[in-house]
Amino acid sequence: MTKIIIWNEYIHEIENSDVKKIYPNGIHNCIKDFLSNDTNLKIETVTLEDGESRLNKEILKECSVLIWWGHKAHEKVSNNIVDNVQRRVLEGMGLIVLHSGHHSKIFQRLMGTNCNLTWREFGEKERIWVCNPGHPICEGLDPYFELEMEEMYGEPFQVPSPDETIFTSWFEGGETFRSGLLYKRGNGQIFYFRPGHEAYPTYYNKNIQRVIKNAVNFVKPKNDSLWEDIHSPTPKSNRPQPIEKIIKKGISVEHPTNKIK
Ligand code: ZN
Repeated sequence: MTKIIIWNEYIHEIENSDVKKIYPNGIHNCIKDFLSNDTNLKIETVTLEDGESRLNKEILKECSVLIWWGHKAHEKVSNNIVDNVQRRVLEGMGLIVLHSGHHSKIFQRLMGTNCNLTWREFGEKERIWVCNPGHPICEGLDPYFELEMEEMYGEPFQVPSPDETIFTSWFEGGETFRSGLLYKRGNGQIFYFRPGHEAYPTYYNKNIQRVIKNAVNFVKPKNDSLWEDIHSPTPKSNRPQPIEKIIKKGISVEHPTNKIK
């Protein structure tokens, strides 16, 4: 059983009646619905209102993949949540950051850059190109697919060079964008996936659903037993006894307990 948590700030769908018509139960529940076909997944949703009580250290410890959708309330996410999520990613939890999550605190923290981009909300066609048809995240996709209406995101996307660019997008207005990026931070895989503006029914698109399903399987940790050691910020073995017999040379300004028996 793989435990998934879907985080959605869940504000547009409550405040805006047009968005509510598209996602009456919120974007998080739309994503949960299509992921629920996979009976190996145990899926929970958490919103900004739930906050830390539903996304604390203990809950994250059991989580294999966290999916993140946020837009207008990034600043309201507590730094505690960001610290805990970052730590879990370093330990091996997979993280999928969707659309306007590019400006979330956790994505900026993990990237180390401002993650700025250019944008235009004009309901443009988006053509999404598969960069590596052999990659597991692209399984079952045609060489490209299209969304009839999306918000445009354009370059320069101010993120570090990814480990791999999985998708690029072309927009009706002419811009292009690196729309599917893979990063590794510590033991964790991070996948940024661009589409998903709240004003369009993007998460009902079968190709989008397939990418997110494939990505969940790709970023989930492959080896649970690795985690425990990495939980500690100071690993037990950071001052190991030497394997070979060695003679101490030079002066020592280190901690006095750092003695070789
Ligand atoms: Zn948007």
